[in-house]
Amino acid sequence: MDQQQAQNQIEQLRSQINKYNHQYHVEDNPSVSDYEYDQKMNELMELETQFPELVTSDSPSQRVGGAPLDAFEKVQHTVPMLSLANAFGEDDLIRFDRRVREGLGVDEVSYVCELKIDGLAVSLRYENGTFVQGATRGDGTIGEDITNNLKTIRSIPLRIDQQDTIEVRGEALMPQKSFLALNKAKEDNAEEAFANPRNAAAGSLRQLNPKIAAKRNLDIFLYAVGQWEVGTLSTHSERLTYLKEIGFKTNPEWRICNNIEEAINYVNSWVEERSNLNYDIDGIVIKVDRLDYQETLGFTAKSPRWAIAYKFPAEEVITKLYDIELSVGRTGVVTPTALLNPVKVAGTTVQRASLHNEDLIREKDIRINDTVVIKKAGDIIPEVVRVLSDERTGEEQVFQMPSDCPACGSELVRLEEEVALRCINPSCPAQLKEGLIHFVSRNAMNIDGLGEKVIEQLFHENLVHTIADLYKLERKELLKLERMGEKSVENLLAAIEVSKQNSLERLLFGLGIRHVGSKAARTLAEQFETIDHIVEATFEDYTSIYEIGEKMADSIVRYFDETRVKQLIDELRSLGLNMEYKGIRKSDKQEDSLFTDKTVVLTGKLEVLSREEAKEKIEAYGGKVTGSVSKKTDILIAGADAGSKLDKAKELGITVWDEQELREALKE
Ligand code: NAD
Repeated sequence: MDQQQAQNQIEQLRSQINKYNHQYHVEDNPSVSDYEYDQKMNELMELETQFPELVTSDSPSQRVGGAPLDAFEKVQHTVPMLSLANAFGEDDLIRFDRRVREGLGVDEVSYVCELKIDGLAVSLRYENGTFVQGATRGDGTIGEDITNNLKTIRSIPLRIDQQDTIEVRGEALMPQKSFLALNKAKEDNAEEAFANPRNAAAGSLRQLNPKIAAKRNLDIFLYAVGQWEVGTLSTHSERLTYLKEIGFKTNPEWRICNNIEEAINYVNSWVEERSNLNYDIDGIVIKVDRLDYQETLGFTAKSPRWAIAYKFPAEEVITKLYDIELSVGRTGVVTPTALLNPVKVAGTTVQRASLHNEDLIREKDIRINDTVVIKKAGDIIPEVVRVLSDERTGEEQVFQMPSDCPACGSELVRLEEEVALRCINPSCPAQLKEGLIHFVSRNAMNIDGLGEKVIEQLFHENLVHTIADLYKLERKELLKLERMGEKSVENLLAAIEVSKQNSLERLLFGLGIRHVGSKAARTLAEQFETIDHIVEATFEDYTSIYEIGEKMADSIVRYFDETRVKQLIDELRSLGLNMEYKGIRKSDKQEDSLFTDKTVVLTGKLEVLSREEAKEKIEAYGGKVTGSVSKKTDILIAGADAGSKLDKAKELGITVWDEQELREALKE
């Protein structure tokens, strides 16, 4: 490759990596796996080593993380928060050890090995024993002030027994169980799920509402220090012990290894073992233990020379795909699932993997009887990575998506802007069954004793077809079902009866209107108070509500326009279901605040109030604070040196206040 070709290649890689960095570090929403990202970065670094004259200081190989978000106050790190150099195999570790020993001019070096927690790096600052500031890593020099969100993590002490100023650093994380529960709730709310626990943790801390952060069950492990006015300690291991002593949560799995061979054994011992942890790790960090050695070795622009991160390979296994099964969801989407010969991946046996849609099957050219490579995305969700086409024997069959619904036989359609094929027959039995399972679920009508299995049986026995049929079930019919004794039938009928009294939002969510999650259902119920008001409302009535966008409004109008829906509502009413909102009514809420239903954006530097205080107060007066200016913004609060947001607000004709006006309004 000549220099010109290398230059072109390097530019292409940099632009791709910059895009991935932005998605990952700024938006918390990656579009490629870490493995793919690391491969691109390696390619770039290899080219830059080959052509050192092409290295520039703004190359992603020389920079940490991503730019901090404007929505937060900025925090200048007293000691930069750097990244770590990567190792992808034993050879890299042996080379690292050689460089360290040569750099120090010694034969033996002890290392501390720690789990590499896959979360978000944060720094916590304590003055006079009190937690005063918490920040993200940001670009390594400037991070985001997320103190109030970090205060919601119970394992972060708000006071410690140490009066000197200290800044500790560690990784905030979301345990796998909380991640799965959060994504399930997001799904129920028709919101976009997080790609993995790391992004979920980052997304929870890099948003402005501490109440949301508090609900996310985050945790933290501390493993390093920044500014540190505590003398006398001479090794990293002593620091870890000390951090624990003064009340910080450190990870218990760290070990001192007397040489790199011991470190490699430690690494290998975690390759399998990591699946037993209840949080994600993506590797092992190996650090020189002696602090004077660390000082001698120093730093590159991006990472310390005394540490390295060994990254686990994404565990990929090979198996046979023996069939593709189709299922019809409650909204009619037909989803193909790969049926696999059972195989163990990252700790559990995998037999199925969603193929999402027809386009993906075409893109990866997946055929029935193919030998395929499987991995778990984010270590949790099984995924077909690729086909081993060299293994094909000629027995493979190209998969054809049917043109008709596998459950009811009606023609499938592909809606505009959607990749999914959909059955639009409202009486499709598969949709009805899934719809019933949704209707009785916890966030909807919450009918105890009506799990998936019972619904399947009721359906199979032709006892229910529609939601209304649930309320017509009779004792003697239920007694005929498998595993249904007197007592369970009695309990079930009682639970069905109780559900009739549910507040309107549960019924609305349970109806399964497209794009209406449980949160939107609550908003609708709160605003319109009765189902009749909702049925009568217009598209404009809906879109005038902040939380309801055009897509959702359109879907609600269409839904209630259908004759079968009108009939269903009438039938449910005559069966005795409550159709009114039972929570606090909008009209009963205090209207005395000038921020009620107002969307406010803060920009520039505030002199008296902190951003967080201003936000809390606006919210306490009923307002909503968002990060960017749009047509929906009502007021922009512009502090000193306000920039592009102020320009945009002026352009859109939005009311602009300075801090003084805000304080007057808040009666400060
Ligand atoms: P890194 O994650 O490879 O390593 C550095 C980080 O490790 C530290 O900042 C710290 O947050 C963390 N860490 C966890 N446990 C630690 C411990 N015990 N001691 C010290 N540090 C510990 O580097 P990075 O710069 O944070 O991010 C780069 C990596 O992020 C990539 O290699 C890739 O895996 C991922 N990434 C992915 C995408 C994508 O699009 N998928 C994009 C950008 C980055």
